[in-house]
Amino acid sequence: MLAPTPPPVYAIEARGLDKTYRAQGKGEAAHALKHVDLAIPRGAFFGLLGPNGAGKSTFINILGGLVVKSGGSASIWGHDIDSDPMNARGAIGIVPQELNMDPFFSPLEALEIQAGYYGVPKAERRSEEILRAVGLWDKRDAYARTLSGGMKRRLLVAKAMVHSPPVLVLDEPTAGVDVDLRRQLWEHVRALHASGVTIVLTTHYLEEAQELCDTIAIINHGQVIACEPTAQLVGRLDRKTLVVTPQTALAPPIAGFEDVTFAMRPTGAFTLTYKTSDHSVEEMLDRVRAAGVKIKDLSIEEPDLEDVFVELTTGR
Ligand code: ADP
Repeated sequence: MLAPTPPPVYAIEARGLDKTYRAQGKGEAAHALKHVDLAIPRGAFFGLLGPNGAGKSTFINILGGLVVKSGGSASIWGHDIDSDPMNARGAIGIVPQELNMDPFFSPLEALEIQAGYYGVPKAERRSEEILRAVGLWDKRDAYARTLSGGMKRRLLVAKAMVHSPPVLVLDEPTAGVDVDLRRQLWEHVRALHASGVTIVLTTHYLEEAQELCDTIAIINHGQVIACEPTAQLVGRLDRKTLVVTPQTALAPPIAGFEDVTFAMRPTGAFTLTYKTSDHSVEEMLDRVRAAGVKIKDLSIEEPDLEDVFVELTTGR
């Protein structure tokens, strides 16, 4: 008997992945991916973050077989997309950006058609289970065109799951989706992740990535410029901002803060931004008091992913 294949370490592994779109008409050639190395661990909730035009969709579409790469290699669940495309394709479900769907099929029909497309035998289809999981069982016989935007989005997630892929990719799934629907969608995706599915999310919403993803790669101009656990990425910025509201209004500048960044806020508070490796909050407070400031209120602001992002992407 064959020994069962152990699960792969990486759900997705790209080595030196390169893509140049050829110039068309008056358009210029675009070097969309520049030798991208990216390894997405099995079981991750992984964020692929980058501004518009960074190359996120190109990366996803190469994995999905919609775009032909110019160089390098990629594998999905250990299956090379060139030498083992059937198994590679079978291991991934991709939820596309657009809400394009055939308006005449009901959710149930849409899932059955998709399952047929993937060659899932009738006895192994899980249409009911999937529709229940995304909260669309009640709507199973409705025309797709009568579904709300959020329902359509959930139907797209359902369609991507018909072949039970171990890897689910969501390409900018919440662009233009309102807050309630976004939350609902994340509940479903979190449940899928908890059940063992590796999730890859592309987004340009920093907050979303910071809240959901355990690991984040930042891609800019076709290059991966960071890839690490979210907490580590956010912790990269070695600085804090002390926000002090004085009891009586100050007339800046105040002496004694030349080695840190001093700024006034319209509220009358002032801020001291300092490197945590050079100064402690204790020391900063002592210095505020030594400057004769009576403190009315106090808070500390820490950098978030947006700060890291700006720091990493500016000047490149
Ligand atoms: P993102 O998904 O991060 O917004 P894309 O992968 O869509 O980025 O685009 C990366 C770059 O490739 C951009 O410069 C874009 O203009 C270019 N590009 C994307 N698709 C095509 C295409 N089909 N033909 C030519 N250029 C393209």
